[in-house]
Amino acid sequence: MSAPVAAPSVTRTTVLTARDVGVVIDRATILGGVDLEVRTGEVLALVGPNGAGKSTLLGVLAGDRVPTSGSVEWQGEALAAVGVGELARRRGVLLQETHLSFPFRVVDVVRMGRTPWRGTERAAHDDERVAQALLAADVLDLATRRFPSLSGGEKARASFARVLAQEPVLLLLDEPTAALDIRHQEHVLAQARLRARAGDAVVVVLHDLSLAAAHADRVAVLDGGGLAAVGPPTQVLEPDLLSRVYRHPVDVIAHPVTGDLLVLPRRAAVHDTEPLR
Ligand code: ADP
Ligand code: MG
Repeated sequence: MSAPVAAPSVTRTTVLTARDVGVVIDRATILGGVDLEVRTGEVLALVGPNGAGKSTLLGVLAGDRVPTSGSVEWQGEALAAVGVGELARRRGVLLQETHLSFPFRVVDVVRMGRTPWRGTERAAHDDERVAQALLAADVLDLATRRFPSLSGGEKARASFARVLAQEPVLLLLDEPTAALDIRHQEHVLAQARLRARAGDAVVVVLHDLSLAAAHADRVAVLDGGGLAAVGPPTQVLEPDLLSRVYRHPVDVIAHPVTGDLLVLPRRAAVHDTEPLR
């Protein structure tokens, strides 16, 4: 038996530093006191219950939402000071939902990812990058389909292809796997890991904690707008913490064959189930 091949070491540089970030909307505190580093070479999973503030935080990290308090810096430079065009070359965002009223074809949607590179040397690679992205997101066979006619999962993959075509250093993905079947969940997250392996930084919002355990280098747990924990999956995905944050008993076990961490909600018999409060 050959010795396991060590994963190639990837240089980890902090691209984004969020310090004491807070967001208040209509006097409601949506985020408060969030300190977080986003590093190249890493997949950072953002997890937490519905309404915890994951999408809001992703918007702040994307520079799309200016925090009410605190700061976000891109390698020492205030994120708010980075121009729109430059921001579009640095970071790609996959929103939780993509609405396109015009019936663009999938290939056109993916090509939109190349817009930030218009007029630069990189534009020479547009066709190649679009083709690679269609393949990487497994939407080559959907290339000429109209985007609004796609299923939810197909739309998510086409949107992921657009982000890949954009070639950002930082990928911010909001629940990219929510509508995907098992094969495509694994496929999309494997692609995200490939980007990290190539030196990009990936932040991905996930609900499936076993997926987070399998694919993330670090996991950040958001609860009520604050970070409950940040660290490697083995450290953070811990039953007491998760049961508290999700307000539901959770077990964490190691897969008997692969050793993968499995996060499982404990299930009561239906006659013991009380209405959700
Ligand atoms: P998550 O992505 O973790 O489910 P969000 O970041 O979308 O949560 O939202 C966090 C909380 O902030 C939710 O309770 C949501 O209803 C609230 N929220 C988000 N945007 C607004 C807004 N524009 N106005 C009022 N409340 C908002
Ligand atoms: Mg969300």
